[in-house]
Amino acid sequence: MDERSELVDRVVLVTGGTRGIGRGIARTLARAGAAVAVNYCSRAEEAAATVAEIEQAGGRVIAVRADVAVRDEVEAMVEGVAAELGTIDVLVNNAGIATMRGVDDITEEDFDQTLAINLKSAFLCTQAVLPGMRKRGWGRIVNVSSVAARGGGAVGVHYNASKAGLEGLTRGYAARLAPEGITVNAIAPGLIDTEMAAPLKESGVADRLPVGRIGTPDEIGQAVLMVIGNAFLTGQTIAVNGGGSFL
Ligand code: NAP
Repeated sequence: MDERSELVDRVVLVTGGTRGIGRGIARTLARAGAAVAVNYCSRAEEAAATVAEIEQAGGRVIAVRADVAVRDEVEAMVEGVAAELGTIDVLVNNAGIATMRGVDDITEEDFDQTLAINLKSAFLCTQAVLPGMRKRGWGRIVNVSSVAARGGGAVGVHYNASKAGLEGLTRGYAARLAPEGITVNAIAPGLIDTEMAAPLKESGVADRLPVGRIGTPDEIGQAVLMVIGNAFLTGQTIAVNGGGSFL
């Protein structure tokens, strides 16, 4: 299979695509020939740095600011990307937060904020890109879940719930959209070397993993590329976790 041809002239939106895992996904898909929009919320300087990096490598890329938990901002973002790059063919719902909380110190606000940014955002972004994908009869949606969707993990119950919900959303959309040429899958990373993972890096997780190290953002990008290239793969969660389970 020629993976490059699948993405040449396709337009990709990666939410939270300016740093961490999202940046790894964005640069991998740009290398494969896609025009990429990287979304961010507050760190404009890191967005500019990611755009510069992808451009220097010969990629076509723009940065677009929006809080993905806010419907009006999502709709404006999708319209803006369409105006600058064209209709979105591939949506990667990657933006997320991981606010560490114990069972006794988690608040209602923590719970609501995590569900809004990690789960509702994927619903809002999916609804916004669907009309364009349906018109073309082709679309790829990849949701970045976590091993925490099925395991306990270290972040908290709000995070577990948001990622388990994201996998339910994935299967629900997949079943309904498959006849229209749109696949919907999830990637469930284990610990990946980003700012989000910093508090857990020193905990010895790497030593407990069969591969003996934590993952890189580009390794998640490769998994996203693989999923996009397979029209018969839908409604699945692909674990990319160095051989570990339920950390
Ligand atoms: P990260 O380094 O903290 O980056 C998070 C990204 O999401 C940033 O680009 C950030 O934008 C963006 N973002 C946060 N809130 C947003 C909002 N309301 N609207 C738009 N963008 C927003 O995190 P990461 O480690 O790359 O994680 C990316 C995804 O992978 C998350 O869904 C996370 O749950 C999942 N994941 C991570 C790991 C891991 O070990 N790192 C493991 C499993 C799953 P700004 O820069 O503007 O803040």
